[in-house]
Amino acid sequence: MASPLDPQLRRAVAERVRYYNDLGIYDFYRRPIAPGITDLSEKDVALAPSPAAFSEQPPIIQEESLPKPKSQPGPADPATGLRLIREDIGDCTRCRLHKQGRKQIVFGVGNPQADLMFIGEAPGADEDQQGEPFVGRAGQLLNNMIKAMGLRREDVYIANIIKCRPPGNRTPERDECETCSPFLMLQIEVIGPKTIVALGAVAAKTLLAINAPMSELRGRWFDFRGTKLAVTYHPAFLLRDPRQKKETWKDLQMVMKELGLKAPAPVAE
Ligand code: URA
Repeated sequence: MASPLDPQLRRAVAERVRYYNDLGIYDFYRRPIAPGITDLSEKDVALAPSPAAFSEQPPIIQEESLPKPKSQPGPADPATGLRLIREDIGDCTRCRLHKQGRKQIVFGVGNPQADLMFIGEAPGADEDQQGEPFVGRAGQLLNNMIKAMGLRREDVYIANIIKCRPPGNRTPERDECETCSPFLMLQIEVIGPKTIVALGAVAAKTLLAINAPMSELRGRWFDFRGTKLAVTYHPAFLLRDPRQKKETWKDLQMVMKELGLKAPAPVAE
């Protein structure tokens, strides 16, 4: 039997859950607590909602004293919501990456009310250094893609599946994605974009929880918790194989059509 929550901790949890409810977020999952831990601090109670893909975990905290979900999402202030999520992450030690050379957490950047969100895989060396996603060579290419869509980098929101650089830029492990991506799910819920573009197979497979080749993922819309999600090639892949830029442009045009965007006219020489 689980021991009852200390009243002070219960109040702190209720307050935090109420805040998330005001942002329109209602699903919360408990992180399993290591055997032997009895003295819970507020930090030990994880309130990060789990994505649909990882939702085999124990369900919702259903304490009588906790606020009931509202039928309508409350007034959302995305910028404040993002700040709170960042505070929750803190100086994260939830997975092994915190002791494998990461310099800092790379949270995400851009317009908190963006219609369009790009989601990549994981920070690389430049991102780890600067604390911002997609600032290296792949980032330059992503900037060009955004510009070609008639947008500026600051119009969209850019994040990654995981927030810490894996050593040697290796592909993130499944458990690292599972530990970190609930925070991305919160970011998505708070921002509420009209469309999401998953950059590359790792982002696509993690978000959609399907194992399919890129050829089956591109060129179509997926439903991601009520938001339209498209998949395209990762800019780092395009740097290695520029011939695929044409295909990527087709994917981006599909997104532009959905958002009612027109490509800017070419500037006359
Ligand atoms: N690749 C990614 O997937 N994300 C970044 O932020 C940079 C490179």
